[in-house]
Amino acid sequence: MKKPGHKDQTDILRKLPPIDTLLQTSSAIDIKKESGARQLTFLARTATELLRAELLLGEKADDREELLRRAEIHIRQAWAHQRSLRIHRLINATGVIIHTNLGRAPLSEKAKDALINEASGYCNLEYNIRNGKRAKRGAGAEFLLAQLTGAESALIVNNCAAAALLVLTALGNGGEAIISRGELVEIGGDFRVPDVMEQSGTRLVEVGTTNRTKLADYEEAITENTRLLLKVHPSNYRIIGFTETPGISSLSKLAKESDVLFYEDAGSGALIDLSDFGLSDEPLISRSIAEGADVVTFSGDKLLGGPQAGLIVGREDVIRRIRKHPLYRALRVSKLTYAALEATFDSFITETALENIPVLKMLSLTREQLRERAEDLVSRLRERLGDNSYLDFELMTGRSVIGGGSAPAVKPETCLIAISGKDTSAAQLDQHLRSSQPGVISRIIDDRVVLDLRTVSEEEEPQIIEVLAKLDRNI
Ligand SMILES: *Cc1c(COP(=O)(O)O)cnc(C)c1O
Repeated sequence: MKKPGHKDQTDILRKLPPIDTLLQTSSAIDIKKESGARQLTFLARTATELLRAELLLGEKADDREELLRRAEIHIRQAWAHQRSLRIHRLINATGVIIHTNLGRAPLSEKAKDALINEASGYCNLEYNIRNGKRAKRGAGAEFLLAQLTGAESALIVNNCAAAALLVLTALGNGGEAIISRGELVEIGGDFRVPDVMEQSGTRLVEVGTTNRTKLADYEEAITENTRLLLKVHPSNYRIIGFTETPGISSLSKLAKESDVLFYEDAGSGALIDLSDFGLSDEPLISRSIAEGADVVTFSGDKLLGGPQAGLIVGREDVIRRIRKHPLYRALRVSKLTYAALEATFDSFITETALENIPVLKMLSLTREQLRERAEDLVSRLRERLGDNSYLDFELMTGRSVIGGGSAPAVKPETCLIAISGKDTSAAQLDQHLRSSQPGVISRIIDDRVVLDLRTVSEEEEPQIIEVLAKLDRNI
């Protein structure tokens, strides 16, 4: 295409539809019902800018009517894009249970209920019902958390990274923390645990080697500047083979003898033993506390199955020091988080977590249960779509993923539904599913779109059928 000269440019741009004309089109009038007039004007400007850019690049522009139609398409696309950026519900058919990009743990029904019915309006966040005076924030959730982990005390902040930053800032005191070279980990999304930790002003002193660190390595590195011994759970990777790392109890003992504190960042952490599901590597928080850790931090929205939060448990005097640090005020959580956490903790306390917490329920589904559900869904799909369907379904065995940096070596067996469409590529199908209502997020394996029902609730199955039926009509 030939780029127009300056004189031609002015001529071309004169053909751009005026904003006022664009605002009167049927597309604009439709969008305005949802967007309101102000956003619509913004969208119309965006659409006109796009059109102008196209014209300047030399696209044909003879017919004013045609240009107006193109502006209408741009305005509709800009609106759809704006809408898609907002938080909206998705069906996770990837089989990745703790999917960070899809919001990690889905909340339990009890947690949702508490969030909406107890916490969304006025509530007793910092109010003591007995004397009508101000009360300590988070007392209910902290009490439950301490009870669950056997710790003397607990504190809750925005996420586990915030917890690590706060603990090291409050306890490191500008001194040093000793950490094994095998534990300097990157969690994902460019988050490196040591980078956050160094923001605390505490210097990380690295000891041992990537695969082996002995108790004596820590011991020899202790100086008068040492404030903490630090253990970080390697989360999303494992070093296997010739490895060694001292356990919690020997590190706690060494810390005590040396008059420093022992802090464990357990990352995901488990409140109950999950070895039945192959997760025997996940540190059990109550065990770390029982073995003498002074303070332990972990996430609220990984294996715990609750809302985003950073949970800090440990010795009463240590937690008090952390709570008193001014940084705590900047990292504290909202009433919504406390309410969802309390309900989640409650399921563990009443020993109903495996039935009530979605993450644990999904984890405990067997391949046979998933095969039964997949077979049933496929037969309902075939019935709904009829004989002339463009879509084909096939069952295959496969593996789900825990995700969220937890238990990278554990891949529970599952049954996958592979979908193929005549004349439609896997990438196209995947894209259609993503942008449907509600969006269905799948995986592509060997050039086929696959759905894993492990992360799909039974209530979502009919919605998947409707999404696929609509897709079948439109492709
Ligand atoms: C996931 C993880 C974190 C970060 O937790 P967020 O709650 O996402 O901030 C920190 N440390 C470890 C070891 C982790 O696994």
